[in-house]
Amino acid sequence: MSDSKKKPKKEVIAKILASKKAHANRIQPALLIEKLKDGSKSGLSEAITLIESTKAEDIQKGQELLKLALPYSGKSIRIGITGVPGVGKSTFIESFGSYLIQQGKKVAVLAIDPTSEKSGGSILGDKTRMVELSANEKAFIRPSATAGSLGGVARKTRESVLLCEAAGFDVILIETVGVGQSEIAVHSMTDFFLLLMLAGAGDELQGIKRGIMEMADAILITKTDGKNVKMANLARAEYKNALHLFPANSNNWIPKVETISSIEKKGIEKAWSIIEDFETQTIPSGWFKKKRDEQQQFWMDETVKDLLLNDFYKTTGLKEFKEKTIKQMMSGEITSFQASELIINYYHKNND
Ligand code: GDP
Repeated sequence: MSDSKKKPKKEVIAKILASKKAHANRIQPALLIEKLKDGSKSGLSEAITLIESTKAEDIQKGQELLKLALPYSGKSIRIGITGVPGVGKSTFIESFGSYLIQQGKKVAVLAIDPTSEKSGGSILGDKTRMVELSANEKAFIRPSATAGSLGGVARKTRESVLLCEAAGFDVILIETVGVGQSEIAVHSMTDFFLLLMLAGAGDELQGIKRGIMEMADAILITKTDGKNVKMANLARAEYKNALHLFPANSNNWIPKVETISSIEKKGIEKAWSIIEDFETQTIPSGWFKKKRDEQQQFWMDETVKDLLLNDFYKTTGLKEFKEKTIKQMMSGEITSFQASELIINYYHKNND
């Protein structure tokens, strides 16, 4: 057997483990916040990795870091971007992000990807799909966190937004796939919600639920180039009509519909000017801040639920007790209501 094929010795493994542990111990919130304030992208990556960690020690450090970051956060426009796979989200983000950087902005791209847990890889926020942007010093791209429930991933993304802002990123794009619950999560952490749609893809609504269209502050018809132009213009008129049928928004903003081509870089400037108009209209009226305040409350409630559930499932013996109770319920001895009462009583008895 050649030297390179020899198994690593125990001492070598121990050394590697010790150095990893030493590195983890070196992560100090007070140092990390300084890196963030300097706009360091590697510091930002490290900070997000810390808040994504599920280790008890990291959770505590992550919370400390967020507390330190809070005074430097909030000064960005947070934009949600959704649409079915293939609609052109990453190509749009590549063009839009590059345009914003030309305008002097710093752009962070985050993602909430409900499928990544299953596929084991991320299809959103993937740097290989945003080559120009990811090479840019003023852009930061982070794929979706994969661990945990949608609620958990969403909470971490929201915390990542605060960290990006502390690192001086003034436009935050949060990408998600327009097929499920994740848009609701993205909507609840952004100021402006962009829905990307294809023209003439058979069913004009492409499985996008009415509720998602109602959440949109703007709809962009993608791929308006070549032979698609005519159809895209028709779709624009149709969507405009459809949006008129929805109830008016509480902020008096009328959702806009535009056609874009990310490849020909057409309509990109217009998309940004719509968002600027939105800010001009909703910041002075106080609506922008009101919405952020409401979002903070929503996330506070969500976190309370998460923490309670965590605490609940940590109860010693609860798993076994629950299994036993399920058996009783399945054999018809008790109802599902009685079963839940037994489980809650068990929790209280073992936590008081
Ligand atoms: P995503 O899944 O929504 O992120 O979609 P992608 O950005 O990966 O785009 C899906 C496909 O549509 C790719 O082959 C792109 O090259 C193509 N595409 C995206 N934007 C445009 C566009 O503006 N014009 C044309 N003709 N094709 C585009």
